[in-house]
Amino acid sequence: DSYLNAHYTFDNFVEGDCNRLGRSAGLAVAQRPGVTSFNPLMIYGSVGLGKTHLIQAIGNYIKNTQTNKFVLYVTSEKFCNQFINAIKNNTLQAFTNFYMQVDCLIIDDVQFLAGKEKTQESFFHIFNHLHQSGKQIIMSSDRAPRELAGMQDRLLSRFKWGLTADVQQPDFETRIAILQKKLQADGIYIEDKVIEYLAHSIDTNVREMEGVIVSLMAHASLNRKEIDMDLARTTLKNIVVDNEKEVTVDSILDAVTSHFDVNMSDLKSKSRKKETVFPRQIAMYLMKEFTNLPLKSIGYHFGGRDHSTVIHAVQTISIMLETDKEVEKTMQKLYKYFNRVRV
Ligand code: ADP
Ligand code: MG
Repeated sequence: DSYLNAHYTFDNFVEGDCNRLGRSAGLAVAQRPGVTSFNPLMIYGSVGLGKTHLIQAIGNYIKNTQTNKFVLYVTSEKFCNQFINAIKNNTLQAFTNFYMQVDCLIIDDVQFLAGKEKTQESFFHIFNHLHQSGKQIIMSSDRAPRELAGMQDRLLSRFKWGLTADVQQPDFETRIAILQKKLQADGIYIEDKVIEYLAHSIDTNVREMEGVIVSLMAHASLNRKEIDMDLARTTLKNIVVDNEKEVTVDSILDAVTSHFDVNMSDLKSKSRKKETVFPRQIAMYLMKEFTNLPLKSIGYHFGGRDHSTVIHAVQTISIMLETDKEVEKTMQKLYKYFNRVRV
């Protein structure tokens, strides 16, 4: 058994700027394991960004196209436990021999080996044997090799023999593509508008995106309804409510000045320059939305303007939000400063 999950393939791994290098190196390795200069291949990046998916996709590809090759997937945690058991049971030789027969060794989350001297030593010997015999080694880690504290230098220097590629947070378009692919695979139809809303709102990692789809499906079947904007909004609201920050006048001013790169003094002045008027109107809109301040007090924060100016600003922004996609995007981003999702 290779311990691979057949579900992880290249076909259902969405390519984006965030993973392009790792994916194409992975494909090269999958087509010619042990032959390319990408040996070892090390994929690193934070949780939920597709490391396990990618390295298992390589394994599955080799397993399916070169059936004579022994592909083995193992987490570093399991490797450690097997090593400890081998010591306990006096079967260290068998343990080492087993790993030395592998044609393609995929070892996930190597950061787990940090500080485990004896396990690292054993891995070092297996690594050397495999590498010298032209066998492929593929690894993943939650951080860059240079940040792997507690890892022996001789091991780290070997990691650098091949190719190290990172996976990053997917951008908006890639998030949409991932969502579409997942929904398609599950045979679910959701309006584009709703998909875009989800892609805007969940920008942490892919695992979280999958979690939201699962919740949406559960809510939809519970309430016997379609996954529409309403359902998406209420579901997301429940998910993000935990880390909402209190939104104050100061936090709004901070968010707006840093987002638009305007001076606080300009923002609060009577300047009619276009570059300040729009951010100022946005700030007024946010204060109306998030604080209980009377309009007059909101005006007070902007050079003592009266309440009709604030009403005008709020109306202007409301209309723009309805009609201008860019303004809606900007507003979504500002909401993120407060860990809120715009609903
Ligand atoms: P990691 O190992 O980096 O923590 P995983 O490989 O477990 O992340 O990915 C988390 C989930 O997100 C998995 O279900 C995986 O299939 C999915 N996923 C991650 N990246 C992509 C991608 N580019 N395309 C499709 N699915 C992805
Ligand atoms: Mg993983």
